[in-house]
Amino acid sequence: MKLTEKEKAMRRIDAAVRRCKKCPLSKTRTNAVPGEGAGNAKILLVGEAPGKAEDEQGRPFVGLAGRILDDALEKAGLKRKEVFITSILKCRPPNNRNPKALEIKACHPYLKKQIETISPRVLVALGGYGLKGLTRKSSNVGDMRKKKLDFDGTPIVVTYHPAAVLYNRKLLKILAADLRKVRNLARK
Ligand code: URA
Ligand code: SF4
Repeated sequence: MKLTEKEKAMRRIDAAVRRCKKCPLSKTRTNAVPGEGAGNAKILLVGEAPGKAEDEQGRPFVGLAGRILDDALEKAGLKRKEVFITSILKCRPPNNRNPKALEIKACHPYLKKQIETISPRVLVALGGYGLKGLTRKSSNVGDMRKKKLDFDGTPIVVTYHPAAVLYNRKLLKILAADLRKVRNLARK
């Protein structure tokens, strides 16, 4: 099989992340989680950081939050394999603590490279940290959902992190509706 330039670039990012030692999380992780999905994805989703299941498997959103995300994607008429899913940190913070500013900064070049390579039509910030990783802004997701934001010209849709739905089931409807909006934006 012959790889396209884009596929080659994605593999290079993947390999660099898996052996990265740019921040202290490299010492406590089991596996780094570069992200996965379609190389020609029109939609790139950005979460917070791998959790326990993701760290064990080296794949994004495969735990409880992942099941919620799959459910919301399906409700929005999207397939997981047609989007690309990653997080602002590629390695799990111990005990799932919040990402630190230093870690976000160290890991940012990988996210930027992924965005440049995939060149999606829409970026989705999943939760406050997805937003922070993309815009450096710390703000309330409820407020930011209504704002027009972009990353180097690519529009960002801000929505709730699937893990937030575990604490408040009502958010599933909003998450699915936001993802439907994303789907429509990506098709324009
Ligand atoms: N939460 C995230 O933000 N990313 C994952 O990969 C899993 C849970
Ligand atoms: Fe490297 Fe990012 Fe993992 Fe830190 S979190 S070790 S910067 S891949």
